[in-house]
Amino acid sequence: MDFQLTEEQQTIEDHAREFAQRVIAPGAAHRDETSSFDRQLLSDLAENGFLGMLVPETYGGVAMGYTNYVLVNRQLATACASTAVITGVCNLTASAVDQFGSEALKAEVLPEICAAKDNLAAAFCLSEPHCGSDAAALKASARREGDDYVLNGTKQWITNGAMSGWYLVMARTGPGAGGISAFMVPAGTPGLVIGKKEDKMGQRGSDTVQVILENCRVPARLRVGEEGIGFRIAMTALDGGRIGIGALSLGVGTAALNEALTYLAEREAFGKPLGRLQALQNMVADIATELEAAWLLTLRAALMKDAGQSVTKEASMAKVFSSEACAKAVDLSLQIHGGYGYVKEYPIERLYRDARVTRIYEGASEIQRVVIAREVLGS
Ligand SMILES: Cc1cc2nc3c(=O)[nH]c(=O)nc-3n(C[C@H](O)[C@H](O)[C@H](O)COP(=O)(O)OP(=O)(O)OC[C@H]3O[C@@H](n4cnc5c(N)ncnc54)[C@H](O)[C@@H]3O)c2cc1C
Repeated sequence: MDFQLTEEQQTIEDHAREFAQRVIAPGAAHRDETSSFDRQLLSDLAENGFLGMLVPETYGGVAMGYTNYVLVNRQLATACASTAVITGVCNLTASAVDQFGSEALKAEVLPEICAAKDNLAAAFCLSEPHCGSDAAALKASARREGDDYVLNGTKQWITNGAMSGWYLVMARTGPGAGGISAFMVPAGTPGLVIGKKEDKMGQRGSDTVQVILENCRVPARLRVGEEGIGFRIAMTALDGGRIGIGALSLGVGTAALNEALTYLAEREAFGKPLGRLQALQNMVADIATELEAAWLLTLRAALMKDAGQSVTKEASMAKVFSSEACAKAVDLSLQIHGGYGYVKEYPIERLYRDARVTRIYEGASEIQRVVIAREVLGS
């Protein structure tokens, strides 16, 4: 067992940190304020291989594996959580196609996602207005008509929904969880309608919209894998995605810790820097310890995934622990800032808002605990 990064891993992490701090961090506050995302950034991410981290080189990716993926994602999120989630959803969608799609589908779709063709991202469309946690209750339908499927339904909370070239849509071809199939729908397909944009509390640089399917006709060659395996595709993708959200949460938590350290050094009370007050030192100790523990869980899940092992339990553990460590980090860091933590003058205000959704999306904390308990109890 070795807790050191290899030279290659260290190089990848250093490169991601440098890129994130130079290219992504400067616009993070503006993206939050304006609830917008400069799509040129997608091309910058693509040029660095960050949209195809889990995709083989044959299809335009860099195939760096999950361990490197979490190293990169943590650095991106330290700079900007919105950019990290945009990147994460592209990678999640691409890895699902890579794992389950036909050769022809992979050759058609993956190079475009990896290269952010036309400065567009990729979207993962599972949740619906009436169901998120209970995803198998989805109602969107895919009716076979000759060589096509006709899709109808509404997808809710779709990250990258307004700026994607490809949409991975889970829709019903039959009853039950085994009656769900997955399709890659290209942007611009008649009947693929971008609906309401959500006015979110945090991660406002990442767009979240409804995606409406109105008699949206897609050729059968765009189905991902066999009919009826759509739910398995979604759950497998989320196993990987949850490791990514573990890393994203760690990035936000690390940024919160960095902000706390800066503030503790510059602010004085009772004739000495805040950093000399033991009550606040204890907060720093708690933040740092929990982030470290979360990082080890996240790395372990990533290493196991790279080794081809099942990570359902480990990914859920990484996600729930990291997102909760992140919640504590932003809360204590805000507390350390006193009143200044409660206003927009300091980045901790944005970090506090950005952190909140990590306990909700890609499976809320309660669902992660359901998954972990099921695995531990063997039920
Ligand atoms: C900003 C944002 C981005 C998102 N991006 C995407 C995306 O790109 N693609 C996509 O498909 N979805 C996306 N989602 C949806 C997200 O995954 C869901 O919001 C999440 O899974 C929770 O589902 P829900 O909102 O329907 O809540 P519900 O399922 O209605 O849950 C409500 C509450 O009940 C709890 N609960 C539900 N069932 C149980 C249970 N069995 N045991 C204990 N507690 C339970 C939940 O944990 C939660 O606290 C996004 C959501 C947000 C907010």
